[in-house]
Amino acid sequence: MIREDLWEQWYQLLLSQWGLDYRLAFIVGAVQAALQTYDYDAVTITSGYRSPIRQKELQAKWDSGDRTGLAARPATRSWHMQGLAVDVSTRSQNFNLFREIMESVPGIRWGGRFKKVDRVHFDLPIGQPKSIDQLIAARF
Ligand SMILES: [Zn+2]
Repeated sequence: MIREDLWEQWYQLLLSQWGLDYRLAFIVGAVQAALQTYDYDAVTITSGYRSPIRQKELQAKWDSGDRTGLAARPATRSWHMQGLAVDVSTRSQNFNLFREIMESVPGIRWGGRFKKVDRVHFDLPIGQPKSIDQLIAARF
């Protein structure tokens, strides 16, 4: 059983504070609530939705040679820009437990298994990832 009050709290927080798509918020909220239901600490979330404009700024920052806070050039197509990706701290005490439960959910991918390993990253690919320019064009 998962405590539904915790699930609801996480779901709302993941929507409002982290800007996740409701489908990913539903899953991540369930996993965080499951951990807490069994007296484990939830993991620390470090990133959720990123706007295409912000992503473009980060690319420009990288291209200018300023790489502080960036491990790689921010991707032109990123599920973060559709609210379908979340990053969590690998230093969280229960990171491995969180990862195992997340990976048991159909459709969820862990970035630790990507060719370009990204251990903090989990996503829920739905449809085609859109590029920065496609997403910016869709806004106006
Ligand atoms: Zn990520």
